Amino acid sequence: MKTIFVTGGAGYVGSHCSKEFAAQGWNVVVYDNLSRGWRDLARWGELVEGDILDRDALQSALTAAKPDVLAHFAALTYVGESVEDPALYYRNNTLGTFNILESMRAVGVDKMIFSSTAATYGVPHQVPMPEDHPQQPINPYGWSKLMVERMMDDYARAYGLRFASLRYFNAAGASPDGEIGERHEPETHVIPLAAKGALSSDYAFTIFGDDFDTRDGTCVRDYIHVCDLGRAHAAAAKYLMDGGAAEFFNLGTGEGTTVKEIADAIEKVSGKPLPRKIGPRRAGDPAVLVASNAKAKAKLGWEPTQSSVDEIVQSAWNWAQKDAKARG
Ligand code: UDP
Repeated sequence: MKTIFVTGGAGYVGSHCSKEFAAQGWNVVVYDNLSRGWRDLARWGELVEGDILDRDALQSALTAAKPDVLAHFAALTYVGESVEDPALYYRNNTLGTFNILESMRAVGVDKMIFSSTAATYGVPHQVPMPEDHPQQPINPYGWSKLMVERMMDDYARAYGLRFASLRYFNAAGASPDGEIGERHEPETHVIPLAAKGALSSDYAFTIFGDDFDTRDGTCVRDYIHVCDLGRAHAAAAKYLMDGGAAEFFNLGTGEGTTVKEIADAIEKVSGKPLPRKIGPRRAGDPAVLVASNAKAKAKLGWEPTQSSVDEIVQSAWNWAQKDAKARG
């Protein structure tokens, strides 16, 4: 049985990808410090509690697991927090990944899947965005991830690392069987917050700006179902096992959805009106972010199959109700 070492496997994307790896026959070993992850989301394979900043612990865990592939999800992901405390982001995301790269080199692991992000592009010059779009991040979070891409590229050239760097657009939705879903503390993402607005009369959902140059004035994003991300990661693992070269891939649908359309979809699945306020624009939000996914389709043989707005919002809504009940 092949083994995949999953850092951050107790987080939102990491847990859904672990589930897919296990479904495709991988032995999963999760490495997570549970600082922002959740024990109950790490259900596939062994959970080793550890920090990527603790190089000795990381290297021991890697030596014990002897993985064929390492999938690296452990990271901090709040743009606002990265602006307020950039050191936190460069330490965890950039230095943390340097530790991973060095531990892999020491132990002899040469295949890696990396959770990258559309935030490495910055302001779009063209839509949809291809992988060779200029990368000029507009916040420390994006820079902390772009620096990792730079390191991996140099390690590939010098030391023979093979990687798939997967630039997610807007990860969304939940496992359709209701087993796991999106949980952040605090939650800042639009779909869980719209669901919260529908679930709780104490919470007013706010649309951040309705004066953008888009079809209804609200921001357009490319929402990709987290289970489609799971299948893309499994495809990337296979690509690397089959000898694939180091590459960067966008993961998105190529279609954009507005914030108002998300709010309408939540109304539809919940069967009740979603009160919404219009607030000011959020700093650093571009009007439109949509991926070109042609490269992932061609080279990974992957395409999204469950990322319609209705499927994403239905699964997110089911999970939000269940998780709100479970967590009181
Ligand atoms: N958004 C919103 N209200 C919220 C949260 C988000 O209008 O309560 C908007 C946000 O301005 C952006 C889109 O929803 O245009 C997606 O934001 P999210 O934080 O989910 O993801 P991001 O695009 O920042 O990665």
